[in-house]
Amino acid sequence: MSQGIVGQFHALKADSDADLLAMQCGDFYEFFDDDAECVAAELDLTTSTKSSGGESYPMAGVPVSELTPYLTALVERGYTVAVADQFEDEGGDFYREITRRVTPGTLLETTDSDAQYLAAVVAPDDAATNTAGSAAAASNHGDGDSGPYGLAFADITTGQFLVTEVDNADSAVAECYRFDPVELLPGPAVRTDDAFLDAVTDRSDAEVTLHTTDAFAPGRANHAVTEQFGDETADSIGLDSELAVRAAGAILAYVAETGVGVRQSMTRLQPYTADDHLTLDATTQRNLELVETMQGDSAGSLLATVDHTETSPGRRLLREWLTRPRRDRATLDRRLDSVDALAAAALCRQRLQETLDGAADLERLASRVASGSAGANELLSIRETLGLLPDIAAELTDGDLADSPLPSVLDDIDREAAADLRETLADAIVKDPPQTVTQGELFKRGYHDELDELIERHEAAKEWIDGLADRLKQRHGLSHVSVGRNKTDGYYVQVGQSEADAVPDSFSHVKTLKNSKRFVTDELAEREREILRLEEQRGELEYELFEELRETVAAQSALLQDVGRAIAELDVYCSLATHAASNGWCRPTLADPGELDIDAGRHPVVEQTTEFVPNDLRLDRDRGFLLVTGPNMSGKSTYMRQAALITLLAQVGSFVPADAATVGVVDGIYTRVGALDELAQGRSTFMVEMQELSNILHSATDESLVILDEVGRGTATYDGISIAWAATEYIHNRIGCHCLFATHYHELTALASHLDRVGNVHVAVANEDSGEDITFLRTVEEGATDRSYGIHVADLAGVPEPVVGRARDVLEKLRSEKAVEAKGSGAGEPTQAVFDLNSGEFRAADNGAASNTSAPADTGDDAADEFDPAVESVLSELQATDIDETPPVELMAKVQQWQEQLSTTERSEY
Ligand code: ADP
Repeated sequence: MSQGIVGQFHALKADSDADLLAMQCGDFYEFFDDDAECVAAELDLTTSTKSSGGESYPMAGVPVSELTPYLTALVERGYTVAVADQFEDEGGDFYREITRRVTPGTLLETTDSDAQYLAAVVAPDDAATNTAGSAAAASNHGDGDSGPYGLAFADITTGQFLVTEVDNADSAVAECYRFDPVELLPGPAVRTDDAFLDAVTDRSDAEVTLHTTDAFAPGRANHAVTEQFGDETADSIGLDSELAVRAAGAILAYVAETGVGVRQSMTRLQPYTADDHLTLDATTQRNLELVETMQGDSAGSLLATVDHTETSPGRRLLREWLTRPRRDRATLDRRLDSVDALAAAALCRQRLQETLDGAADLERLASRVASGSAGANELLSIRETLGLLPDIAAELTDGDLADSPLPSVLDDIDREAAADLRETLADAIVKDPPQTVTQGELFKRGYHDELDELIERHEAAKEWIDGLADRLKQRHGLSHVSVGRNKTDGYYVQVGQSEADAVPDSFSHVKTLKNSKRFVTDELAEREREILRLEEQRGELEYELFEELRETVAAQSALLQDVGRAIAELDVYCSLATHAASNGWCRPTLADPGELDIDAGRHPVVEQTTEFVPNDLRLDRDRGFLLVTGPNMSGKSTYMRQAALITLLAQVGSFVPADAATVGVVDGIYTRVGALDELAQGRSTFMVEMQELSNILHSATDESLVILDEVGRGTATYDGISIAWAATEYIHNRIGCHCLFATHYHELTALASHLDRVGNVHVAVANEDSGEDITFLRTVEEGATDRSYGIHVADLAGVPEPVVGRARDVLEKLRSEKAVEAKGSGAGEPTQAVFDLNSGEFRAADNGAASNTSAPADTGDDAADEFDPAVESVLSELQATDIDETPPVELMAKVQQWQEQLSTTERSEY
């Protein structure tokens, strides 16, 4: 111990690769120096001072028995914490060693009921030399020139362990987003790929940990996987991706190395392929606000809206289903049949939910049992939850649900083994066991012969003590006598002051209190020794038996996970059925791709807070592309999102918010909608918009659903319209998927007469010609609208009346002069510019007399001379201003500025 305690601390810390070190010093775990300051600030502890090696250091400590909650709190705040335990060597000297490192992905005692995934991502190593290439792919969305990627996601708190291989960086990012890992282990090639890592961490709070590259080596990883999951695993489950095996192996090595030791609960490797699931890229998951809103709140998300689950595992599974909708009809039909049955049988459902309400989180408990951290109370919870199975089974098989697929949810469970385990636990653990497992009083009588004998002797000795006071009273004629026990004095006889002098000589005095005296007797001391011996023996034996029992339970991890999974599944079905029944949702009819027919559809989230106006939607092979027009705020986005969400919900196996719906099963949903938050993050909206569009155009197939909201808005009008035009053609001609496209480029609506499958719809408003405030009707009708209602929105947004009024005047003036859409032909008269469908360019519409001018943005021709440059500039700014995305104050300033510019122009009488 020559280096002093703080020296030791620093030496261990340097080896630990952790943010903080908790070092055991006797009954406390201590943090020293900077770590002490940090922990004290985070956890509201007070620091004291420790002298070591001639200097003073801050010190903060927590009792050994209370380390867990402090560790959990620190790790949940994003720190990795190493724990050094104290050991005694043969010579009786103490030494300390790091026994584990707790990181966000290996935190066993999490207080959060959400899944806690640890992810590993591996790309082929030679990609490491091509950082720029793969980085570009990650940000360009779908270039497809990087990858493939092997991915593994493990939740050590539940034992879930999923692996897959995907083709490119985008899909890898999308999977990461879907699982939302708390910690990410990038493989050797990925750790140098900043763009990839940025893309993942941009959208999740994942802590990136650079684990030793050896762990990702194919041979080592393969060995780790076969050792964990058995020889046949990789082959029998059809996992032939070396990259995925490497990712899985790295996770196993990492978990082992941090010392949490939960590997026993990872019983099953579940490979999955993208083919089973609907493709939902990261952007779409966010745009559709599946688990959180665009602002990052969980309230207001689809999950929060439809969640009526009773259990944490149920909620985790519902989240998994919503973020990973499926494509296989068999699974979806089974889910729909189950929801249908429960929706129709309200009473059964209610009873089932009441039963499920009592279920503990078996998946988590299985992990805690396997890692040796579960106490007697946890085993009791397991017993109680296993005890629910007969009730659940009876509910599923005896009544209205019997003909549904619901009873089969229990098929995977070895019910006999579950009943045996329940009985074993019921025979073992007492009703109210103590928190600690080392001090006995955990087991019932009859569980173990030797223990019974010990208990009997222990109880007898305690009974002797219990009766002692009465016996002393009788024998010695005393009235104020009691027998007590405390830590310093052990057992003692306490006699009231008035009688203290009357005690027999055999009493030896140990302490005087205010009104009484304490004594011991030889016999009492003898009994005390016996009790202590018995207590120690009992504590040891019970702990031994408890560990045995915990191992017996741990050996049944797979069973517990099966039961936990079944309970979660039933909980999700009940939740979906509850929501469907109380919101008038209907069962969708699944169909082949190329059909989407919704009667009176609603937006699942918006309908909760608004008097919602339902709308129909029909898309098929002949008319699969709708251009949606209408004023700002009229409901275009809502209409399109509701189509996406109804499709998604149907492919989750849920009922949908509509009166009737036929949903062709799609292979992916792609969206591109407003990018406000990217703007806030300092990324160019237009760049993001184009990346998203590019991804869609690369990835969508003729079986996909594409939702585009105002593509091309982020650039100058003519650029934007050209891009929107070209994208429409490409989607229509080359991809051939279903598409809903909201646009404020009314020129695009002319496409309907040129492209077979394109149709126009618009969201209707009232009063549009009266000059009064328009009323949003929220009904979607056939045909296009040709107006823009920006000033109305400015009014709604609270822009002051003088500005709105003046804007109306200006607009009126501009309109009357056809200035908004017009541009001089060069022949003296202003003429309307129209979009030429053949050339895809603007030209002056002067009954064919005008030559094909290029887009009006081009001011190189003589037409530009017709206008004062100030007017030109106001016009183009007015056109380019995105009312939705401009804050009212800024809008006001702009309008003011335009007024000033125009009034100068008027004065100069252009
Ligand atoms: P847009 O995309 O046309 O600008 P949004 O879809 O964002 O309009 O809708 C604007 C507002 O109208 C939203 O606040 C939404 O809640 C409400 N809304 C949209 N559609 C409906 C509807 N069918 N019934 C009731 N309210 C609706």
